[in-house]
Amino acid sequence: MDCLFCKIIAGEIPCKRVYEDDRVLAIYDINPQAKIHVLVVPKQHICCTNAINSDNSEAVAAVFEAIPKIANSLGIESYRVINNCGEKAGQSVMHLHFHLLNDEKLGAKIV
Ligand code: 5GP
Ligand code: ZN
Repeated sequence: MDCLFCKIIAGEIPCKRVYEDDRVLAIYDINPQAKIHVLVVPKQHICCTNAINSDNSEAVAAVFEAIPKIANSLGIESYRVINNCGEKAGQSVMHLHFHLLNDEKLGAKIV
């Protein structure tokens, strides 16, 4: 499958790994938008939030179980988690992922 994150998960494209378990990979974003910018990615290919359903939501639960562990390992308690779903929301890689952002002060909130 021609998917960037599937290739990273398969080890075909290098990345800076932050965390890994059997269902989740977390890597540093190649183009960080904050002092800490990590992408938390389910290993299962799910294209976007619109494709989450009762058959694959375990992979999403695994992502959110991993996030506090990742934050703890990075020594941060305050952070923002963002998901862009679809082109109009700015999703550029069509493999579900969550941005984990931390900085002294994060940029303006939309919500
Ligand atoms: P999206 O725009 O889909 O919400 O987020 C995709 C993210 O993937 C972007 O923040 C972009 O910087 C990051 N990205 C794109 N290509 C690579 C890559 O090859 N390696 C890593 N680590 N991040 C990437
Ligand atoms: Zn994929």
